[in-house]
Amino acid sequence: MKYLGITLERPKIGVFGFTGCEGCQLQIANKEETLKNLFNSIEVVNFREISSDGCDDYDVAFVEGSITTESEVTRLQKIRNQAKILVAIGACACLGGVNNLKSRFPLSDVVKEVYGMHPVDTGPVRRLQDVVSVDIDLPGCPISKSEFEWLVRNLVLGIKPQFPQYPVCVECKQQLNSCVFDMGMMCLGPVTRGGCNAICPRNRFGCWGCRGHSEEANFESLMRILRERGFEDEHISERINFFNAFNGIL
Ligand code: SF4
Ligand code: SF4
Ligand code: SF4
Repeated sequence: MKYLGITLERPKIGVFGFTGCEGCQLQIANKEETLKNLFNSIEVVNFREISSDGCDDYDVAFVEGSITTESEVTRLQKIRNQAKILVAIGACACLGGVNNLKSRFPLSDVVKEVYGMHPVDTGPVRRLQDVVSVDIDLPGCPISKSEFEWLVRNLVLGIKPQFPQYPVCVECKQQLNSCVFDMGMMCLGPVTRGGCNAICPRNRFGCWGCRGHSEEANFESLMRILRERGFEDEHISERINFFNAFNGIL
């Protein structure tokens, strides 16, 4: 492949799933209109959702899901040893994500509630970075396909990707959205990293923080405003801890 007259390597990539809903992997396989261009710039050598073939000779590993069993630790370490670049994709991999909800209760109670006496191999929820070194976090629940494509372009061109660090509110205001706070809803946009084009507030939902916290997030102010608007701490805590994005500030 050539770009501006320069021959570019087609990196070999693998896409792998751990504990998660596979929604992030599905995003990569989605959007047929751009798949041809995507697959022209990379060589997919291991991706169970699109092919039963799979080989372990890849340069970049995109890894979805959080780590919840010891066998997953071993498998992730093997992927880390192979990949030159390891990208955590989605809130489960980057933050723990919705899986982290089970950490709020004693593990044995959660397992019993769901599976009864059936034996289940499951442990505490860990982010990928808790187990191996991660080169890039691609945030979101699920990830955005266009942001994934942008990241791939950066990798192919050898450019270090610069993700937005400003809050969701910036993109929300750019789009002249009505603020959902003024409609009585809770929104974590002021403390959440942008890059999603404020998709939730744009559709009249408050932000739940799936992209992790923004740079210099002012939690003190947010908490004050939420309490002034009549939200109870229990309700605020439910929202703030949903994706495990804010280090348990409440
Ligand atoms: S981040 Fe969301 S979409 Fe992706 S695997 Fe986890 S739950 Fe599914
Ligand atoms: S709706 Fe949310 S993201 Fe948008 S301006 Fe209001 S607080 Fe910020
Ligand atoms: S608005 Fe918030 S919850 Fe919605 S996609 Fe963006 S960061 Fe995630």
